[in-house]
Amino acid sequence: MNYRHAFHAGAFQDAHKHAVLALLLQRLGDKPTPYCVLDTHAGIGRYDLQATAAQKTGEFHHGIGRLLAAARAPAAVAPYLDIVRRLNGGGALRRYPGSPELAARLSRPQDRLVLTELHAEDVRLLQRGFAGDARVAVHHEDGYRGLKAFLPPKERRGLVLIDPPFEEAGEFERLVDGLKTAHRRWPTGIYALWYPIKDLPPVRRFHAQLRQSGIGKIMLTELLVRAATSAESLNGSGLVIVNPPWRLAAALVPLLSWLGERLAQGPGAAGTWRWLVPE
Ligand code: SAM
Repeated sequence: MNYRHAFHAGAFQDAHKHAVLALLLQRLGDKPTPYCVLDTHAGIGRYDLQATAAQKTGEFHHGIGRLLAAARAPAAVAPYLDIVRRLNGGGALRRYPGSPELAARLSRPQDRLVLTELHAEDVRLLQRGFAGDARVAVHHEDGYRGLKAFLPPKERRGLVLIDPPFEEAGEFERLVDGLKTAHRRWPTGIYALWYPIKDLPPVRRFHAQLRQSGIGKIMLTELLVRAATSAESLNGSGLVIVNPPWRLAAALVPLLSWLGERLAQGPGAAGTWRWLVPE
């Protein structure tokens, strides 16, 4: 386990994943009934962009840095950008919210967060960061096992984020198997699965496996910062959404096209969505 998210916090792939995640959580909050968020690969929750790791790569400059510098943003990005601004007290960008922090800030007193993380140091940081929040449970646990242990949640409403590091071969297959396991246990949950886009063949195979999974209502949102032609670089970020909330697409259109424009790094940049398996 060499992957450390601190090097990549706030990069374009985080901006894509977190902007869509914030929108999904906002929609869940439209009804007063409680919901549960299971974040299977939680990371450390909050990131210091002045720390050595983030400074070494500087990736956040090409992600959240560009978004905060923009004069105007569509309303659909507000749930995400507002949290980043609040976390920084309205001042210069220094702190960045990971998925647990976003979920903690967007959820209500009646909601619950279950965080699993395998790296021992990250687990300690998560436990420390959320020690005062009774809604949050942190488990030192394999995220894919957590899908069996914690689903379905007693609330029967909510969202599962599966955001693995893709540092070992076979992650696309584990992601599909994990989704199938989870969906069998809880068919009505909302699922968000992150995946990297380098060149297209592995992504096409992944899409085909999802299509053949027998699971319905699968939406794809993809952000390319340049054409996906090289297997050597991260050219884009994908987020599969299963059981998206009603009329999500209407908000995704402006959000993704804005991200595509703001985060472009070369020809072929675009933010798009489509149904992989229609409603
Ligand atoms: N979801 C986080 C966010 O958006 O802020 C970022 C997660 S990062 C991409 C992936 C995390 O998964 C790393 O913190 C890594 O330590 C953790 N990890 C790796 N393998 C894991 C596993 N099998 N189960 C749970 N966590 C794992």
